[in-house]
Formats: sequence, structure tokens, C-alpha cells
Amino acid sequence: MFKKSSMPLIVGAIICFVLGVSILVSCVVVPTTDSNSESDSEQITPEEQEEHRNACEGESENNENADPTVPSAPQVQPGSEESPSASEPEQPEQPVEPEEKPYVSSKDDPLLVLANVDNPLPEDFEVGELEKVQGKYEMSVRAASFAKDMIAAAKEDGITLQLCSAYRARSLQQTLFDNKYDSYISKGWTHDDAYAKTATIIAIPGTSEHQTGLCMDVVTPSYQVLDAGYAETDAAKWLAENAWEFGFILRYPKDKQDITKIIFEPWHYRFVGIENAKLIKDSGLCLEEYLDTLE
Ligand SMILES: [Zn+2]
Repeated sequence: MFKKSSMPLIVGAIICFVLGVSILVSCVVVPTTDSNSESDSEQITPEEQEEHRNACEGESENNENADPTVPSAPQVQPGSEESPSASEPEQPEQPVEPEEKPYVSSKDDPLLVLANVDNPLPEDFEVGELEKVQGKYEMSVRAASFAKDMIAAAKEDGITLQLCSAYRARSLQQTLFDNKYDSYISKGWTHDDAYAKTATIIAIPGTSEHQTGLCMDVVTPSYQVLDAGYAETDAAKWLAENAWEFGFILRYPKDKQDITKIIFEPWHYRFVGIENAKLIKDSGLCLEEYLDTLE
């Protein structure tokens, strides 16, 4: 077809054409590469997607830092339970908020220690560290801050809670008991009668809950008598309604006297911890009954 002499010309032309085309291509490709750099950034890695999602779930305010040109992973509304769809690139598992487990109490909970006429505290019972709650009145450090919070909360509601007893050492209980007992003996009572009568008024040493450091007697300036009438005061009503929120229970309710063997004491509040206090209040049980339901 072509003469041999024209071959170098043809080869030259082909070389020129190829060179020309490659120059042309390189000119066209350069700007294309620029625009590609944008679209490259759109292809965010799974790690980057993860960063965006965390920002959404954590603090939605962080979203303002997100580059609007970069499509982020599906937005999860704050507070939404929605989880990323399964078709997405493999994601590390999302941190799951710990489920609220139902509180399980036990008879061995030291906050539920029982001190009554049938269950005296051991002679070597240790109250542990004490802390002042109000004036000279002290409680176990396990209960003191809750008591103080309760007194402060009542004050905010216009109620003054005034302590008239809290922790009582066994020795003080013994003195109180002995003094009362002696007063009957001096009246000519027999030992048995004097002891029995005293025990109805003053707890036998070791059987007073006050020795645990977990309870207090609370009155109010306008009514400082420890009798059933106190129940009608605003302070007693406030306590009946709110004490459980601070971990305290009305220890000797009116309808449980046959079980507690203590008269209705609307002023005597016992710390058992907030979870126990709520369970006891909701169930309507007294501490003795509540303990019977526990393992
Ligand atoms: Zn008391």
C-alpha cells in the first residue's frame, strides 16, 4: 500500500500524533484531578464516619464543626434510640447506655441492720465513724450527709426539721434505762415490775436503733413533744412524703405496732439507703417485714 520510502514519514506522523494526544490529555486531566480531590474527600473512611456519628450522639452542638460539603454518616438525633443501619461499612459497636438493673437488696446489707427487742445488737457492735448532722447530734457517716441534705431540702420548702436525738451510745442507753428503772424501784416497785415498765419506755440497751447511728428523732420548733400529735405537723407530713428520697423510712408506723413492738413514732426516721427506702415505702412494709422478704 505505502511506498517503502514513505514509511519514515508515516512513522513520524504517528509519533507526532501520539505526542500531541498525550499533551492534550495531560492538559485536560489536570483540572479534572483538581475536581477529583473534592470528590475524593467525599469518600470518607469508615473511621471518619464513626467520628461524625460520635459527635452526633455525644453532643449535638459539635455538629457545627462538620464540613457541610462532606456528607456525614446518617445523623442520629440526640436522644434518639436509632442505631446506624446494617448496610453501612463495618462499624465498631456503639457504646450502649448501661441498662438500669433492678436494685437487689440483701439481709446482709449493713444499712438494714436490725435492732429491736428480739434482735439486740451484739455487745461488740461498732457504729464506725460518726459525723455531726445538726448541733451536737451525730449519725454514722453512711447516713449523715443524707440527713443533712434532707434538712436542707425541707428548709427550701419552708419546713424546719429539728433533731432531738440521733446516735446514742450503748452506755448512754444503759444510763437512761437505769435511771428510769431506779425511779420505779424508789417508788417501791419490784425488780420485775420496774424492769418491765422501764422496758416499755426506754429501749433495753442493745435493742435501741439509736445505737446503730442510722436513725434520728426529728421534731420542729413549734412542736417538740414526742407524741402522736406530732404527726399532724407540717414537718411530720413533709417527712412522711419526702424522707424516702433521702434514704429514710418512718421506722415505727401506726399500723405495724404489733410487729415492731414500738408505739407509733412519727418523729423517728431510720436510714436504710435510697433504694431500700423506696422499696419499703412502695410496699407498705415495715423494716422487720421487708427483711423477711430478702434472701
Ligand atoms: Zn428514736
